[in-house]
Amino acid sequence: MAWDFSTEPEFQEKLDWMDAFVREEIEPIGLVWNAATDPFDVHNATTSAIVKPLQQEVKERGLWACHLTPELGGQGYGQLKLALMNEILGRSQWASRVFGTQAPDTGNAEIIAHYGTEEQKARYLQPLLNGEMVSCYSMTEPQAGSDPGQFRCRAWRDGDQWVLDGEKYFSSHADFAEFLIVMAITDTEVPVHKGATMFLVPRDTPGIEILRNVGLMGEALGDGGSHGWVRYNQVRLPADAVLGEPGKAFELAQKRLGGGRIHHAMRTVAYCRKALDMLCERALSRETQGSVLADKQTVQNYIADSFIQLEQFRLLVLYAAWWCDQGDPRQSRTYISAVKVQAAEVLHDIVRRAVQVHGALGCSNETPLAGLWMTVPLMGVMDGPSEVHRVTIAKQVLKGHQPATDPLWPNEWLPQKTDEARAKFAQYLDNTTGNL
Ligand SMILES: Cc1cc2nc3c(=O)[nH]c(=O)nc-3n(C[C@H](O)[C@H](O)[C@H](O)COP(=O)(O)OP(=O)(O)OC[C@H]3O[C@@H](n4cnc5c(N)ncnc54)[C@H](O)[C@@H]3O)c2cc1C
Repeated sequence: MAWDFSTEPEFQEKLDWMDAFVREEIEPIGLVWNAATDPFDVHNATTSAIVKPLQQEVKERGLWACHLTPELGGQGYGQLKLALMNEILGRSQWASRVFGTQAPDTGNAEIIAHYGTEEQKARYLQPLLNGEMVSCYSMTEPQAGSDPGQFRCRAWRDGDQWVLDGEKYFSSHADFAEFLIVMAITDTEVPVHKGATMFLVPRDTPGIEILRNVGLMGEALGDGGSHGWVRYNQVRLPADAVLGEPGKAFELAQKRLGGGRIHHAMRTVAYCRKALDMLCERALSRETQGSVLADKQTVQNYIADSFIQLEQFRLLVLYAAWWCDQGDPRQSRTYISAVKVQAAEVLHDIVRRAVQVHGALGCSNETPLAGLWMTVPLMGVMDGPSEVHRVTIAKQVLKGHQPATDPLWPNEWLPQKTDEARAKFAQYLDNTTGNL
């Protein structure tokens, strides 16, 4: 009987230290530096001066870049442990940088480590792991994100070079990254999943044009966002710019998303918990019509429903992480899609209730609820829309089922089942009365 929901005491000690460190040392940074690019731009001298000593402390405790395998300097923690850590890191956007687990750098490092040549690793991987470089993952296009069949960005061979041409949209951190990992169609004769290639592209390569740095909702309109709309104008790349093999881009893309989605879901648990904590504090403090809000049944329902959803979601994420640790790709894929869908739903419901119970204050920009609410729509879109993940889940669930023998009547049709049961028990029945 191996079911166990406890955390081993030595690891719990690490989690406790992380929790206090994130609350006391890291969360306050976000109160002062909260522009869209602040937590991610390692080139900002002011924020680097604040972050570097904190990173050093994390390194000394052996908690730096824990998602890495031991060969790359990580602890070799499985997804379950990483999930528990990300539940803490989710309290602040700065925490990932301080702990060396910043997206999209983590996923990019993972594929370079796995598929890169020795030269590529020396040039890109080590500085990325040291937190000295920023990287970008450039896949989504203006006309297509979740349907790669409509991707148009192409690359072709010209002598000993590749020529890259096309546009990409929402390439996060493209503007200040040192390099971009770009997916382009290199063979139009085969289905896109077999005809796309990944390229490692230094940001200063001639022909890269940032059309606009798109911001997220709630941020000021203009060019100050962190999601690049990028045009690659016949960008010339050496033959060794290919990451992995030509035609294998989707294999690489799958590799980089698995663990990352679990970590993101666990960070969403942190967002939800923050909203629920605020909901409870407000319910206990605000008095209206003769009692505190916590005494009103509707508010009690808000709290209870939020608690139930949060605990269900958290266990689902940990279960998904556990499946990854078991090395079962089919179950991992299904459960990762399930947590991806649930993250958007649960965050929506809990933050919505917290905003409601805060009344006008909840609608203001003076509590963290504003930022959390703005995150809700992103959850259902980035890393693939919920609808697409639901398709993945449904396909897997359907694999365990068969069509009915007779298409008119389900195999669980009760009149038929009753006749079968009667036949089964016939030997015990009185032929005339049908009784035992
Ligand atoms: C904050 C953020 C950061 C991002 N960072 C990056 C990044 O760094 N690099 C990068 O390459 N991309 C990035 N993206 C883009 C992201 O990966 C895409 O937004 C996502 O894949 C969806 O693509 P799309 O936006 O083109 O939507 P579409 O694919 O056009 O889908 C739009 C909507 O159509 C519906 N839909 C789509 N398919 C189906 C279906 N099969 N069945 C039913 N309905 C469907 C859904 O409602 C969906 O939301 C980021 C996005 C966000 C929000």
